[in-house]
Formats: sequence, structure tokens, C-alpha cells
Amino acid sequence: MSFFEAQGVTRRYAGTSEDAIHAIDISLDAGDSLVLVGESGSGKTTFLRCIAGFEIPDRGTIRCQDRWWVSPTEWLPPEKRGIGMLFQDYALFPHLRVGANIAFGLRHLTRAEQEQTVARTLDQVRLTGYAERYPHQLSGGQQQRVALARALAAHPRLLLLDEPFSNLDEMVKAEIREEIYGLLRTLGIATISVVHDSRDALRCGDQIALLHRGRLLQVASPQDLYLRPASCYAARFLGPANLVPAERKAGAYHCALGVLPAPHDPRPPAQGWLCIRPEHLYMEAAKTSDVPSIAISCMIRSCHFLGPYWEIHLNPHLLHPQTTLLNASSPPTNHSRRLDTCSKDASLPAQGVEASWVAHLPTHAPPTPHTTATFYVSPHHLCWIE
Ligand code: ADP
Ligand code: MG
Repeated sequence: MSFFEAQGVTRRYAGTSEDAIHAIDISLDAGDSLVLVGESGSGKTTFLRCIAGFEIPDRGTIRCQDRWWVSPTEWLPPEKRGIGMLFQDYALFPHLRVGANIAFGLRHLTRAEQEQTVARTLDQVRLTGYAERYPHQLSGGQQQRVALARALAAHPRLLLLDEPFSNLDEMVKAEIREEIYGLLRTLGIATISVVHDSRDALRCGDQIALLHRGRLLQVASPQDLYLRPASCYAARFLGPANLVPAERKAGAYHCALGVLPAPHDPRPPAQGWLCIRPEHLYMEAAKTSDVPSIAISCMIRSCHFLGPYWEIHLNPHLLHPQTTLLNASSPPTNHSRRLDTCSKDASLPAQGVEASWVAHLPTHAPPTPHTTATFYVSPHHLCWIE
């Protein structure tokens, strides 16, 4: 039995015609970290509020260990769920000192026990000696650590975090993110976090749940979601993806790049897409691989130095130029279509968009713009999306 399980959780707000979240299924093992990602308005906060007990789902069940939080016959109020919460705005009491903020929920304890808990949790978040300060005397990162200390003081079994880093600048954010998730992992506290940046999601989650318009598109480990996305939408939500419409039949992909080898698949032929990540396009064929690389002749449009790699914008030369490829860098677009039936065309651009690919090259000598160059991709790195 998993530590935490939500099944079929659905919530529609009064006066609206669509479910804010629809039939969400999630499960979590003890001590694990689940990250909810999705565009603004996709239902992340609504789902988190249903878990916390601030919203009552219209349908569905929620269980933690052997206790029902939400079932057809039961509803456990938030204060009985044993959860801690961390928000982007820290939610500290401005008129209370750090120590009093942390001790706020501990009135059932003796004075000495409260002091012990304040000292322990301040030590855990590396703020020993800050108990007498007021929140306005702390940086944003320190305020977030106090908020974490306050959450930890109540010994939560599950911590809910709603965009906890969005008010912090990049450098502080990286440090706090490592610190908070490292500490929670060490303490064995399970977490469900809302994150809107896909890079944060990859870093923080044992599992990532991608929501779109209130529906769960895919739940997977960071590696699986990135390397084996189940839809074009998921592929492009996690980062640039070069997408080629293709037909899979008889052990091959037939597409505008030619006839490419495909792994054996006993299922009938199907239409779909090939996804190639920018870092899987190389300027040299792999020498050690058991399968030959696929060569793709490309026109180089521009090269941009981005520190760890060069970002190369290019146009692949196609065997069938009438085939529309997907522009690698345009963001996923919203569609009026229902996404529970979503598959390949979740983010089709308008017809006629120029086929523009992106490659990431960790090299000191990028190709020259406005020349033709050959790029290579290993068949191992073709991801099939149906
Ligand atoms: P996210 O956190 O992913 O940005 P939300 O859960 O806040 O998304 O919102 C999901 C959808 O529900 C949105 O369409 C939003 O407008 C709607 N919504 C959120 N809260 C309310 C509310 N209190 N009343 C009506 N609609 C709401
Ligand atoms: Mg939100």
C-alpha cells in the first residue's frame, strides 16, 4: 500500500462550466517527493488545496497511510491531517519574532519544550541565533527557511509546497532548493510541491505529474518524462524538442528525414511523432555505437553562446519538404481540444511555420551560420510519441 493516494479527485468551482481539476490519480511512497507542474491555471493549487483540506473535492478519495482524508463518508479537517505547508510568500506573522513564529502552533507544549523545538528546527534550517529577529530583518531566503522551520516544528508526515521559490532570485533559489529538499529527504518527510519552472521540477521530484487544463497528462520520473514523453505537449513542456511527424511500420519510421530504424514493435502500424532533444544532435557520428548514426543535412541559421553549450538554430533539409515539422522553441500552446484524449498534436503551431530546430553543442567551435552542416542522431535517441 502506498503512503499517500489520491484517486479520481475532481473539483469544479461554483459558477464555472469546467472542472478546475478532473479525475486526478496520484500515489506517493513514504519520504518521496512528487512535483506538480503545468501552465498557470492548470489546476495545481486547486489539487494541493484539496490535499490540504482547504477545498472539498466534488468527487474522488484521498488517503494517507491507513487514514481516509476524503472518502464518500469521511472528511478530515486540515488540522487533523498532519501536514505542513510552505507558500511562496512565506506567510510569517510580521509582528512576531522568528522564535514566536515557529512556536505559534506549539501552544500545547510547555515553555521549555517550545524553546527546545525552536532551537532544534532553527538548527535544522541553519538559522541558529536568529530567534529574536523579526521577519523584516531577514532576507527572502532566510524568511523561507523560517517558514520551513515552523512547518517542521509540528512533525508533519507530509509537506505541501506551493511555488516555494518563485519570490527568490536565481542564486538564492538554487541554494535554498538544494537545502530544503536535501533536509526533507534526510528527515524522510514526503513532499508534494507545485513548481511552475520545468527545470525546478526535474531537480526536485522523484516523480513529476504534468497537469494541463485540470487533467493529468503524465506522471513519471524526471528521466522518463524528459526522455520518454507520452505527448508532444509533455515533450515541449520539459524543454526544446525537435518533432517530426512519422509513420511507424515494419520496424522503421517513415518520415521527412527518410526511413529510420525503429525498435521491433508487434503493434499495428501507427501515425505519430519522433522527438529529438537538442543535446542528442551531434556534429560527428558516434564511433562506438552498435548502430550507425542517422545523418541529417542542415542549414545553420544562427549560433548563440549560452555558457555550458552553444544553441544552434538550424533548418533540416527534408526529403518531403511539404511535411510540417514542429518549431522546437515555440512554447506549448493551449487548445480547445480535450486533453484526456491528447496525443500527438497537443501543440501544433499554425500551418506554414518554418521548420526550425535547435541543437545544443558543448563545443568551442560551432558551425558557421549560413552554411550547410551534417548533424547526427543515434537511433537510440529517437523517442516515439503516438
Ligand atoms: P494553477 O495553480 O495551476 O495556476 P489553479 O488551481 O489556481 O491553477 O486554477 C485552476 C483553475 O480554476 C483556473 O481556471 C482558475 O481560474 C480556476 N479557479 C481557481 N480558484 C478559483 C475560485 N476560487 N473560483 C473559481 N475559479 C477558480
Ligand atoms: Mg497556483
